Amino acid sequence: MTSTLLVTGGAGYIGSHTCIELLQEGHQVVVLDNLSNSSPEALHRVEAITSKAPIFIEGDIRNPALVRDILARYNPEHIIHFAGLKAVGESVKKPLDYYANNVSGTLVLCQEMAAHGLFNLVFSSSATVYGDPASLPIRENFPRSATNPYGRSKLMVERMLEDLYLSDPRWNIAILRYFNPAGAHPSGLVGEDPADIPNNLVPYISQVATGRREKLQVFGNDWSTADGTGVRDYIHVVDLARGHLCALRQLSQGCGLKAWNLGLGRGYSVLEVVSAFEKASGQTIPYQFVDRRPGDIAACWADPASSQKDLQWSAEKGIEEMMADAWRWQSTNPDGYSRLSGPERLRKLDR
Ligand code: NAD
Ligand code: UDP
Repeated sequence: MTSTLLVTGGAGYIGSHTCIELLQEGHQVVVLDNLSNSSPEALHRVEAITSKAPIFIEGDIRNPALVRDILARYNPEHIIHFAGLKAVGESVKKPLDYYANNVSGTLVLCQEMAAHGLFNLVFSSSATVYGDPASLPIRENFPRSATNPYGRSKLMVERMLEDLYLSDPRWNIAILRYFNPAGAHPSGLVGEDPADIPNNLVPYISQVATGRREKLQVFGNDWSTADGTGVRDYIHVVDLARGHLCALRQLSQGCGLKAWNLGLGRGYSVLEVVSAFEKASGQTIPYQFVDRRPGDIAACWADPASSQKDLQWSAEKGIEEMMADAWRWQSTNPDGYSRLSGPERLRKLDR
């Protein structure tokens, strides 16, 4: 069954890939994004791939009148809520920005949803809410903690949503805890476009491969892992996007509040990722070992059993495909969307 959805943060990395999957399934997509970390060009590319245009509204989720207006105008059946800030290091320097965007933004959204009588929400959470896990793989019922303002903002929203559900069982809330999204759309048209120096491993390696950065700094080779470098569960962004469509089906069936891990279910070390990227790209990635990054953990990977069972979802694309798609995107768009974005805007509400 197709429906109308509001996708907050839909011009961003994961949001744009999710819009592609939604449009290809025949849904009508309304994107609300303030473009603080994205370009409208991403949505032009979404349209180029799907031959369908999402409706785009440039604006902030913290603007209650705007959210109210959009809900009244489009009457969506579900909201997929990606909008937020996501850089751990920046969150330490600007904690209030993170609480304002991630916590207050979600608060405004939920207030306006309730006032409109809309109770179906998919929320982008993160494996960061598991802190430094006592054992692996990580299951959804593991204890939660956070070591930085970004992680705390995600945890605070999770707790807020739990309280909300307890107060009113009409809510259906899918909390999706992403592990490490990587890769790009196989077309090479849509991918990750960090505004600044990339914080994350795969976009950093991609920029080293095109010569934009000199070498990768590997944060620590003395972790208690097989080769001493950090281990993470990388998941292809298209698999991740598909997970949202599976979550929507759960909302439609009245799932209540549920949290699901979205990960591959196995870990790769930094050196294994470097080697997979080199193989996929034919490029050599120079690197040097440096000190551990504050706040990092040795290893983290998901137990995806609940998502497989409840959502009928599992990741289909392995590390080779993630790296090949990341390279296709980066090598054909070495400057990301920047050269093409300009003042162009997709259709906007006349406000
Ligand atoms: P992104 O920065 O590419 O996308 C977020 C989008 O939200 C951007 O387009 C940005 O312009 C928009 N936005 C930010 N604040 C807004 C506001 N107040 N109002 C309207 N729009 C706003 O990030 P992403 O990687 O696509 O992440 C999407 C979500 O997934 C985020 O909530 C993030 O915390 C979460 N997440 C991401 C990762 C990851 O590694 N990428 C991992 C776990 C969780
Ligand atoms: N990492 C690294 N160099 C970088 C970026 C990341 O060695 O320039 C390592 C990091 O220490 C971690 C892994 O790569 O072990 C994944 O880091 P990322 O920031 O992508 O994800 P997260 O830390 O959020 O899991």
